Amino acid sequence: MKWITVCGGGNGAHALIGTLLLRGETTHIRLYLPLEDERRRFANALSSHSSFEARVAGEVYGVASNRIHVTGDPEEAARSSTIIMVVPAFAHGPILSQLAPHLSRGSTIAALPARSGLEYQARDILGKVGQNGCVLVGLQTLPWACRIKEFGRSVIIHGTKKKVGAACLPKKETGEKAKVFSTLLGMDVIPCQSMLELSLANTGQLIHPGIMYSVFRNRLGEIFPSEDEVPLFYASVDDEAAEFLSRMSDEVLTIKDTVEQKRPGFKMPSVVHLSQWLLEAYGDDIEDVSSLARKFQSNRGYQTLKVPVTKVNDGYRVDVATRYLTEDVPFGLLVMKGIASAVGVETPTIDEVITSTSAWIGKEYLVDGRLIGRDVMTTRAPQRYGIDSLEGLIKQET
Ligand code: NAD
Repeated sequence: MKWITVCGGGNGAHALIGTLLLRGETTHIRLYLPLEDERRRFANALSSHSSFEARVAGEVYGVASNRIHVTGDPEEAARSSTIIMVVPAFAHGPILSQLAPHLSRGSTIAALPARSGLEYQARDILGKVGQNGCVLVGLQTLPWACRIKEFGRSVIIHGTKKKVGAACLPKKETGEKAKVFSTLLGMDVIPCQSMLELSLANTGQLIHPGIMYSVFRNRLGEIFPSEDEVPLFYASVDDEAAEFLSRMSDEVLTIKDTVEQKRPGFKMPSVVHLSQWLLEAYGDDIEDVSSLARKFQSNRGYQTLKVPVTKVNDGYRVDVATRYLTEDVPFGLLVMKGIASAVGVETPTIDEVITSTSAWIGKEYLVDGRLIGRDVMTTRAPQRYGIDSLEGLIKQET
């Protein structure tokens, strides 16, 4: 019997549990749910059904639900040699802090997805309790588009990515862990050269806040009378918005080039322009590749996805409390800004997005383009951890 700990009880955790149990006949799951209410609901759901189901392409795959053991005890959760967090980035800190005192040397702790700056936070928390003998694995994206069908019982996996990038600390573990996670997840896990590459290659943190700002900044107060009238998110990118997103992406490429020039031999091949990334990620799903705007507008994968909204009395309004801002800015875009600042690259377009969108959500990260806002300490910008130079960033990789 092989135990794996899954931390999290949301959509991604349901998909991961189904995948791990379907792929590993002898696998059992320790499901660590520190939030009491969620833990109780999950345990109740498991005890009232004998199987846990994953639905993929219309087929239903069931596994015995008694292979999932729910726990709120961090000591028990840390007993598995492989621990996978499948939670939004703002939950990584609390979970790492709870498990840290109980981890063994050589434990593998993974984040699926890592988002950006995970390495600074994990080093800070695990280092504080002398757990630096752990292996940290950051996976670039959640490999599924998935939604819970019935909580604690059934998940629908709408789509599965063919490959996902991964980076490790210590770095020398990357090849081996990529193989392990390829087997666990049943897909190609591609080794990235560094955690820094993982952070800079994340495109969601450009696209999500970038579209919220460039497309929707003048529509925040607008009421959409019915669900049908809520605008599409990605497919609303017009030429002007695409130009703006392209400039954000260019700034990231300047950061990459600067690091690579200053550090010959340090390469970040998966950091590419948005335009190229869209083609690599969606390929034939994009009907018209004639411009960046058309790539967004004609991507089949983007045709149903709407801007996040909140219900108000007379209809729907754009929801600024969306994770596109509350997760992608402090655990994504701000990490890119922090890396830029550490290596001396100006990012005026990214700064504009951070300054405006953070004000929408009542946060202050930048003051006059500098990372000195009152809420920086709640982000994963490297400066929060006292890292403010290229040397400091590279040192994190060892
Ligand atoms: P979710 O909202 O369904 O689940 C979030 C879970 O996080 C909660 O159920 C809870 O178990 C846990 N959590 C939240 N706060 C916590 C805390 N303070 N302490 C401990 N646990 C806490 O989210 P999800 O859909 O599973 O997404 C997980 C990650 O994957 C997010 O970063 C999301 O952006 C990303 N993602 C999801 C999808 C998808 O299709 N669901 C696709 C791409 C990326």
